Amino acid sequence: MISVGVTGGIGSGKTTVCKIFEQLDIPVYYADAEAKRLMSHNQELKSQVKSILGKEAYHRNGRLNRNYVASIVFSDKEKLAQLNNIVHPAVRKDAVKWSNSQKSKYTLQEAALLVENGSYKQLDYLIVVTAPVEMRIKRVLKRDNSNFDEVKRRIDNQLPEKEKKKVADFIIDNSGEASLIHQILKIHRTLLKKS
Ligand code: ATP
Repeated sequence: MISVGVTGGIGSGKTTVCKIFEQLDIPVYYADAEAKRLMSHNQELKSQVKSILGKEAYHRNGRLNRNYVASIVFSDKEKLAQLNNIVHPAVRKDAVKWSNSQKSKYTLQEAALLVENGSYKQLDYLIVVTAPVEMRIKRVLKRDNSNFDEVKRRIDNQLPEKEKKKVADFIIDNSGEASLIHQILKIHRTLLKKS
């Protein structure tokens, strides 16, 4: 099974692109959402999280206390690295299992930090979705109940787009200059030929 990563900076349009691939019957693994699910439901991962962040990392009902976790990892880079070191391998393992159970010619895995954490190397191909940073900020502010400083802070924590483009097999321009559908169909046809 061919596994293809979809990444890009915040607000670049990763999810929008993946929704179009889904219309072409290509299954998509949304890694960031799955990471949250695994952190709340995978017992092994939960005990590892507790050993790093303490039992306060979970509510009494067993759900992840996201506010508590965020408050720790945003101020402690060491703890963030430790958390990533246990969550990313668990997500990778789950994604491989998921991908192998699909019946399509190829599958997609969408994640914001595929290049930053090196997991793109375990995928067969990488699609990077791009758009100018001012446009990304505007789109995110329109979409979320967020503010400029918060979005800018998240952008500054990500690798610049030009670094992601260097390791891309396919680049999708989501600035509105080129047709999104045409670019996606072209990549889809290429991937079908490779499968
Ligand atoms: P995040 O990193 O925050 O998860 P993302 O890369 O998945 O973001 P999307 O959620 O797909 O990005 O897009 C961000 C916002 O921009 C959404 O509200 C989406 O509807 C809008 N958007 C995406 N592409 C376009 C486009 N070509 N034209 C207009 N709006 C767009």
